[in-house]
Amino acid sequence: MNGYGGSILRVNLTTGKITKEPTPADVMRDYIGGRGFGAYFLYKEVPRHADPLGPENKIIISSGPLSGLMIPGAGKCDFTCKSPLTGGYASSSLGGLFTAELKYAGLDSIILEGASPKPVYLFIDDKKIELRDASALWGKGTITVEKELKEKFGEEFQVAVIGPGGENGVSFASINHDFGRQAGRGGVGTVMGSKKLKAIVVHGTQEIGVADLEGYRKAGMALFKACKEAAGLKDWQTYGTTIVTSWCDEVGALPTRNFSAGSFEGGKHIYGQTMREKIVITDKGCFGCPSPCGKYSRMSRYNTNVEGPEYETIGMLGSNVGVADIEDVAQANLLCDELGIDTISAGGVIGWAMECFEKGILTKEDTGGFELKFGNTQAVFTLIEKIARREGLGALLAQGVKKAAAKVGQGSEKFAIHVKGMEQSAYATHNATAMLLAYMTCDVGAHHNRSWAITYDLQVGRELVVPEKVARIIWLQNFRPMFDVLGACRLQWVELSIDRDLYVPALEAITGLHRTWEDLEKAGDRIWNLTRLFWIRENEGFGRDWDLPAPRFYEEPPTSGVTAGQITRFEDVQKLLDMYYGQRGWSPDGFPTPETLERLGLGSLAA
Ligand code: SF4
Repeated sequence: MNGYGGSILRVNLTTGKITKEPTPADVMRDYIGGRGFGAYFLYKEVPRHADPLGPENKIIISSGPLSGLMIPGAGKCDFTCKSPLTGGYASSSLGGLFTAELKYAGLDSIILEGASPKPVYLFIDDKKIELRDASALWGKGTITVEKELKEKFGEEFQVAVIGPGGENGVSFASINHDFGRQAGRGGVGTVMGSKKLKAIVVHGTQEIGVADLEGYRKAGMALFKACKEAAGLKDWQTYGTTIVTSWCDEVGALPTRNFSAGSFEGGKHIYGQTMREKIVITDKGCFGCPSPCGKYSRMSRYNTNVEGPEYETIGMLGSNVGVADIEDVAQANLLCDELGIDTISAGGVIGWAMECFEKGILTKEDTGGFELKFGNTQAVFTLIEKIARREGLGALLAQGVKKAAAKVGQGSEKFAIHVKGMEQSAYATHNATAMLLAYMTCDVGAHHNRSWAITYDLQVGRELVVPEKVARIIWLQNFRPMFDVLGACRLQWVELSIDRDLYVPALEAITGLHRTWEDLEKAGDRIWNLTRLFWIRENEGFGRDWDLPAPRFYEEPPTSGVTAGQITRFEDVQKLLDMYYGQRGWSPDGFPTPETLERLGLGSLAA
């Protein structure tokens, strides 16, 4: 099949058996690739109620039909598994150079199953595929290990690696690659650690078949030309995602002190402009990217370097924990990367613990003697280390904010900022109903990238609760994740306003199949509903309550900043859900109806 590697690699870590099978044609047709493959194989192969950290859970690593080809940003790789953080569906996207090598090795997906009795790494050099001993790498940081493996095998080998966080079972451990790119959310690194798989090393030299070479060349060139001529390119390249930090602060969307406010008095010290001026030393992009948003930074005070921080990290390890210094935020970013834990969840759990401390719910006895107040940078660094090693208070926080708050109680559940157990990413949503609904209904928990709607809220009226807003969220949820299905970056469409129709001839020339965006959105709808079925199947009592946001957003208006006194009323939260379920074709409890499943061709899979 043109555009595909052609094979699925199955690695059983219990037995050490490695097999290849052809990528099934019907799965390519209905689920296309990337996140679609992940959702399909997860639902079909992981047994009901599997322990996320047991050998029955699987990690499905997938490229898409655009991956590794000369299409802007065609370096996205999807990691899917049952989440140890939420107990539901986890899918995390990794940029960099990994997925291109996967395709050049002839692979569309790797399915990791079982669990090794001892630390190993997976070595792939074209057709030579082996599990090798990783005892000497176990316990080491991600950047350290990536450097070691690249020195051993050569620069052309790409490495995805976990750190102590994944080894020690931190529920939000990441998988790191290219010294600063992560599959960060949902604990994909935790599951890799539970399988005792330290790293995957991959290099390939095989060709990817293309149906119409001249058409592909023309369509690819048209996309690159559009990127190069985009009005927003210069600013995007200068600041990357940090471009939104000052805007979020101004409109009250910057998470501040555990989301108790949306504006930060120290904001200007962590703005993208400040970062560019003070610490950025160069730009860095993923495979085939004409608009590199990665920033490489130097922290002179600490004599260290890091790729980052990007906006989400600035929000969560800056304002959300009261830290008003970009160099400190960058250093916290580096610690999380090296230890292999997600910066967003880390900022979420630390922000919650700081609020507990300020309210007297946690004390110095719990922290081991230090003052866990907002703005205490050293406390942030210490807690990151303790979380990764699951020591002292870190052992509690390593379970994620939902479980930690359930253990601590005393009303702390009310300010545990998550949906379905995933810590909310860096948009304060006290009065931004579209973004609030986006978090409530996101397929992995409170993550922003499926339907980023905060600017839309501001455009149409942030407090409005109307069917048009709900329709917009559903459209975004069906459409945006399709980039993760195709294996390319969405940010050229989002940030440079590249006409999405330019991708259609490229996809057709590569695969030989004509697909419009309407066809792709229907596949997006199918995948969305399939992942909803996974949540329902895996969690007794799953239903409407699981889609509620943190009470802070409907009970407790901020007392400072531009959103002071503003809130979304609980009855409006419920109205949003009624409209959402109705428009999705789900029951009032949030279950896809038999008619919806039939329409999407999911009837037999769900039966
Ligand atoms: Fe990677 Fe950023 Fe380029 Fe997207 S825009 S491909 S995330 S560097």
